[in-house]
Amino acid sequence: MNFKILTSVLAAALSCCGAAELPAVKIIATGGTIAGEAATSAQSGYTSGQVGVDTLIKAVPTLNKIARVSGEQISNVGSQDMSDAIWLKLAKRINELAAQPDVDGIAITHGTDTMEETAYFLHLTVKSRKPVVLTGSMRPSTALSADGPLNIYNAVAVAADPLAAGRGVLVSINDQIHSAHDITKTHTTATDTFMSPYRGVIGATAYGVSQYYRTPFRKHTVDTPFNVDNATSLPRVDILYVYEDMPGDLVDAAVKAGAKGIVAAGVGNGNMPKAVMDALSRATQQGVVVVRASRVTLGFVGRNVEVDDDKLNFVAAEELNPPKARVLLRLALMQTSDPKAIQAMFNTY
Ligand code: GLU
Repeated sequence: MNFKILTSVLAAALSCCGAAELPAVKIIATGGTIAGEAATSAQSGYTSGQVGVDTLIKAVPTLNKIARVSGEQISNVGSQDMSDAIWLKLAKRINELAAQPDVDGIAITHGTDTMEETAYFLHLTVKSRKPVVLTGSMRPSTALSADGPLNIYNAVAVAADPLAAGRGVLVSINDQIHSAHDITKTHTTATDTFMSPYRGVIGATAYGVSQYYRTPFRKHTVDTPFNVDNATSLPRVDILYVYEDMPGDLVDAAVKAGAKGIVAAGVGNGNMPKAVMDALSRATQQGVVVVRASRVTLGFVGRNVEVDDDKLNFVAAEELNPPKARVLLRLALMQTSDPKAIQAMFNTY
């Protein structure tokens, strides 16, 4: 073999093996604004969930420098239409993929409206320590300064990063890495909408290079008893937003409609008018589990402050906001309807 041929064979071998050494990241697309399209690049109106996963990947050609990516389309919906059926399909598929030795991490594209709920659902039901990272965007893929491509790049980088492993399900967005437990959407349209206002971010990412500041405090993923791999449905839990002079009949309506649990998005420290408290107490006597959360952004709802939870058999939501309290309550109700056992879960996850 002459020298020229030898060097080209060696170069081909090196380029092959260098690429093979890159982590393998599966991108699962569910829809959202990140896959949204508008008629022009400068308008507010658009339709979520129009663009497929291959187009999302093609929009970020440099992805192949940080990972071996492949895509899968699970759904293509605006996340206001996220459903139990998609949640169950997603959790099962992630558990299948994460069990494969040739998958190093999973990135999920998702609408931002309900991203915190999906992330927390997966945080409790994914049975793997491998990185599972959600991302989305506030601007559709056709917009001026679309934020999707860099968010996908950073999410894939985090999913490919061994340092992200064991931190539960993460959301990588707007150059920050959040825990599914802590993140919440705070602004209807701004690109810096996501915050973890109570416990702070997990880390930060700049063009695919990440720094990690902490691990989540609460248990998650492999350290929960929640497994939906064989589930076909989730129990109904309704959220009732509490307000001045609220009547109790909304509680009765939820019970009549078949709710197995009710999350009260209470005022202040999970408080509610007496009529609502009486109606919720009646609901517990019919076996419905009542969780007191708060409509306030910050702080936690603890037991027996102004409401006698011990006497009324209520559960206090601790740090979980109402939509996340609903997620945990639904999973808890698949195992027990004992308020004391469920309170222990709210103290743990
Ligand atoms: N409704 C859209 C969704 O959640 C808007 C939010 C977004 O993705 O930015 O899919």
